[in-house]
Amino acid sequence: MDKRAAKIAKLQALSTQFCQQLPHRMQEIAQAWQQVKQADNDQSDSINTLLHLIHSLAGSAGTFGYIRLGEKARYVELELQQRDLEKTNNSRLIDEALQHLQQLSEQKADENSYHNKIEQSIEEEISEGNKDVYILEDNTLLASEIVKQLEYFGYQACAYETAQALRKAYQQKLPVALIADIVLPDGDLKGPKIAKELNALSNKNIPVIFISVRSDWLARLTALRAGGVAYISKPIDFSQLVEQLDKLSGRTIEHPYRVLVVDDTPLLAEHYATVLKTAGMETQAITDPAKLLDTLAEFPPDFILMDIYMPHCTGIEAAQVIRQHSSYQSLPIVYLSTEGALQKQLEALSVGGDDFLKKPISDTHLITAVSTRAKRFRELNALMTQDSLTGLLNHINLKLALERELACWQRHERLVNFVMIDIDKFKQVNDEYGHPIGDRVIKSLARLLSQRLRKTDVVARYGGEEFAIVLTNINVDQAYVLVDGLRETFSKLEHVADIGMFKCTFSAGIAQMSVKHDMFSLIKSADEALYQAKSNGRNQVVVYS
Ligand code: GH3
Ligand code: MG
Ligand code: MG
Repeated sequence: MDKRAAKIAKLQALSTQFCQQLPHRMQEIAQAWQQVKQADNDQSDSINTLLHLIHSLAGSAGTFGYIRLGEKARYVELELQQRDLEKTNNSRLIDEALQHLQQLSEQKADENSYHNKIEQSIEEEISEGNKDVYILEDNTLLASEIVKQLEYFGYQACAYETAQALRKAYQQKLPVALIADIVLPDGDLKGPKIAKELNALSNKNIPVIFISVRSDWLARLTALRAGGVAYISKPIDFSQLVEQLDKLSGRTIEHPYRVLVVDDTPLLAEHYATVLKTAGMETQAITDPAKLLDTLAEFPPDFILMDIYMPHCTGIEAAQVIRQHSSYQSLPIVYLSTEGALQKQLEALSVGGDDFLKKPISDTHLITAVSTRAKRFRELNALMTQDSLTGLLNHINLKLALERELACWQRHERLVNFVMIDIDKFKQVNDEYGHPIGDRVIKSLARLLSQRLRKTDVVARYGGEEFAIVLTNINVDQAYVLVDGLRETFSKLEHVADIGMFKCTFSAGIAQMSVKHDMFSLIKSADEALYQAKSNGRNQVVVYS
């Protein structure tokens, strides 16, 4: 079973489980109601139990297809909250409402609506993993250079000289993008024509990046009409090409959104988590707020989706506890609850929540609501933590990240290596080719670093043309091999300027964390090793000893 089918199966299993548990839940509600009626003087405990059961039903029934049951439960909940139950008259009203609830629970769920929802949410799943890029280029020398340069950035590029060969490749597997020359031996505007045919044939809109020596209006227009999303003039600026490809393939430096779901109804918590997973997010669900702090340490999320009403601790209280920890002060919290009353919502927001979503929520709405918020939170966060040219961590946040890693090191959880990188003779690059071209070189190194390293590694722009990396879980010899590999690849990248192509190199120093170090001396040691690399002749990596 593929991953997608497994997720659908999981959602269906959750819904089946809900159906199976429903009679038992209704029985629990009936019993709780009996207890309220039998309690002589103080009813408050038994009313709370009843309220919690009904509230949980109101929040989950709609999600599993029992829409009317959910609505009715919500109505009963409000009635219960407002009425004075000691009056026989009121008690009879609740009796009737509960009977109706029972009847509704015996009717079948509106299955159609449920399955539609699943299909829709699955459709939004991000296609992962495809890194194939096809190239249509008759100049074999240039084609193989493009292949090589793209492979440095992790793409699997394949070049074809003729339309026929390319068509065959399309039949076997579709690429994430096509790079096509405009002028081919058999026609001046043949590239766009072939690209258009292929898209019609495959019935998919594979994005095309056109490359050409021509830069006239007609060539550009033809390219645009053939589905061209970018137009790059020859000589090709590879960093520009890779930037375009990254955008198209959705392979940004970003990691999937991570969401922590807190809901005391286990089926519902699982359901939300699974729905969000179908949209490519990483999720974890917990039903007990007491586990929050431990979970946050293991699974730092982009934000928390928090139920408000939970029996032992409300979501609002849980949010306050989280906010007591300085490292979670800016962690976004979005409440998810049946609570409709504005006053309660405002109260929830004023004590440390950032937003509000209303239950029941459809699967598609949940995905959209969560991903737009996650995106916004990330962007806000990026403004504060990232360097604007490269999108890497900035200097201050590098230090914070390093501090965290060193705390793990202290607990003997992992090895830590600190790496300083400095581009060689960069002043000359600026002098010869201009500052904007220098900026592009900095960006291409940033891209190389963030794509080649693991998600767990910290990559930062230390300043100017200097970068810093924190490599964990590997020893210093392995770190050397890794960084030296990066050095070698970087030295092969082709940069483009008006006056021709050129290459750059960098030097690096590595220091491994040990008992002799604190954070400052660790940085200083890496810096000394870097200085050594420079004075040994540059374009090399030196380990501090
Ligand atoms: P070395 O091999 O010893 O590192 O020589 P270098 O020329 O790279 O070193 P130096 O520190 O003398 O010069 C660094 C240059 O980097 C000077 C500065 O103008 C340039 N630089 C710093 N930040 C940026 C930036 O953001 N963009 C561009 N284009 N240049 C920058
Ligand atoms: Mg420097
Ligand atoms: Mg330098």
